[in-house]
Amino acid sequence: MDTEDLRLAVYRGFASMGRARSTADLANQLAVTPTEVERGLRELHNARHLVLSDAGEIVMAHPFSATPLGFSVMGRSTLWWGGCSWDSFALPHLLPAEADVLIATRCPACARPHAWNVGTTGPPPGDQVAHFLTPAARMWDDVVHTCRNQRIFCSSDCVDEWAARQGVEPGYVTDLGTLWRFASRWYEGRLDRGYVRRDPLTAAEYMRSSGLSGPFWGL
Ligand SMILES: [Zn+2]
Ligand SMILES: [Zn+2]
Repeated sequence: MDTEDLRLAVYRGFASMGRARSTADLANQLAVTPTEVERGLRELHNARHLVLSDAGEIVMAHPFSATPLGFSVMGRSTLWWGGCSWDSFALPHLLPAEADVLIATRCPACARPHAWNVGTTGPPPGDQVAHFLTPAARMWDDVVHTCRNQRIFCSSDCVDEWAARQGVEPGYVTDLGTLWRFASRWYEGRLDRGYVRRDPLTAAEYMRSSGLSGPFWGL
């Protein structure tokens, strides 16, 4: 089995159904054994193309998520867990069949609900802020924890209040426009055959051009 076939089956399954395909389903689709699928998934996990749980289940295939991380993303007939704020805002860019999607969340500090129609032509209006807790260099130490802590708050006051309550230092705070620009092309090509991850230099250049700066991002 070509692991790129498996990667595409996982990604395209998430895109069309909003959830992860099971091992049995993937084995059927690719006409291979479940053991081959498990081995392939482990390989993709090691290469950071997806994230497996200890039990070997697919938890995330960025920007798709099989587990709730604070965001829902509603299309015309499909509902996705949005991953983190960055992943949720990336989804409309990977789903050309959707004119725009409805992204909804709650402020982690005060539980106020927030929702935006997000499309590919420009950022949604709103004065909320996106907060990233884990610096870029450590994001993959525990990527599910990282994504769980990349949320959208009412304001930087709500970020500070939340951080004080959690006993953590606030991380990086930015506006919705920067979040949208950063998310728009970060995952470009993941649904296409032959996808190659950006090298660190290209990634840094992309972050800088999106408006991110400073040591938090390794820039
Ligand atoms: Zn709030
Ligand atoms: Zn994420």
